[in-house]
Amino acid sequence: MTELIDGLYLEGEKIADTKAPHDVPIAQRWEQRKFNAQLVNPANRRKLDIIVVGSGLAGGAAAASLGEQGYNVKCFFYQDSARRAHSIAAQGGINAAKNYRNDGDSVYRLFYDTVKGGDYRAREDNVYRLAEVSANIIDQCVAQGVPFAREYGGLLDNRSFGGVQVSRTFYARGQTGQQLLIGAYQALERQVHAGTVKEYRRHEMVELIVIDGRARGIVTRDMVTGEIETHLPTPSCCAPAATATCSSCPPTPWAATPPPSGGRTARAPTSPTPATRRSTRPASRSPVTSSPS
Ligand SMILES: Cc1cc2nc3c(=O)[nH]c(=O)nc-3n(C[C@H](O)[C@H](O)[C@H](O)COP(=O)(O)OP(=O)(O)OC[C@H]3O[C@@H](n4cnc5c(N)ncnc54)[C@H](O)[C@@H]3O)c2cc1C
Repeated sequence: MTELIDGLYLEGEKIADTKAPHDVPIAQRWEQRKFNAQLVNPANRRKLDIIVVGSGLAGGAAAASLGEQGYNVKCFFYQDSARRAHSIAAQGGINAAKNYRNDGDSVYRLFYDTVKGGDYRAREDNVYRLAEVSANIIDQCVAQGVPFAREYGGLLDNRSFGGVQVSRTFYARGQTGQQLLIGAYQALERQVHAGTVKEYRRHEMVELIVIDGRARGIVTRDMVTGEIETHLPTPSCCAPAATATCSSCPPTPWAATPPPSGGRTARAPTSPTPATRRSTRPASRSPVTSSPS
């Protein structure tokens, strides 16, 4: 597998597209991407189902945020509770270029340190975006109630971590991941209660359904009953399936190109199967079913 500037290649074939606009400097790419992306009218969001696989810091936060924005979200994970995702194990802290210590930190320095720390193998567009939004992520976590360490004056404390020369790591004792996950979990459960997110516990994704080069659905196995289920977002022509099965592991692309013949990608069923479970959305906001039938 080779990583080139515009995506991930397997045996010369592009299997993931970063969609980063490379005609503008790296510092403007995320802004440009957001500007070029199609918006979804808030009134139409309730008509779209979105599948999120994973309930850790990535998947849990994504599902909660999408649910809060008004989409119908199905969140799949194989643990018995979203709180048992492996993010619970993270300890040292989370980096943000807030420059609270006035020690010369900046978005570019966080980007530089992260690319270097990743042995120059990370996707630089994504690393720059991470550095850009890092300060907002801390604010979001504080708003979710994450008890970050504070100085006696009440301001957020931070420390130097990972061999860098600036103090930019926000932490909660040695349990940062646990505290962050509790924050994300609370936000997720709030949306479950509101009916915008449906959790599928003890469900393992076994195949990704790719239609016209895009991830459009998943095949899962109920780990309690063994039942195999097909889940296609509604309408499957435009709603995405997102995988957040562990940011530390090899990525599963958001928009995958079908692999060469013989690959393991599942084919879309010719006649979609009925939904095996119903959405928990309140009847007043349910103009569509959770899966096409
Ligand atoms: C000991 C330790 C310490 C760490 N310390 C730090 C630190 O100090 N700072 C830092 O920034 N990072 C740290 N990390 C890394 C950080 O914890 C991870 O990168 C991050 O938590 C990954 O989050 P995630 O949401 O992508 O994955 P996870 O939290 O692993 O979540 C994966 C989710 O995907 C689901 N899933 C996976 N496969 C399937 C499937 N086939 N079907 C259905 N669901 C599936 C799981 O059920 C789970 O919900 C540490 C990691 C470890 C292990």
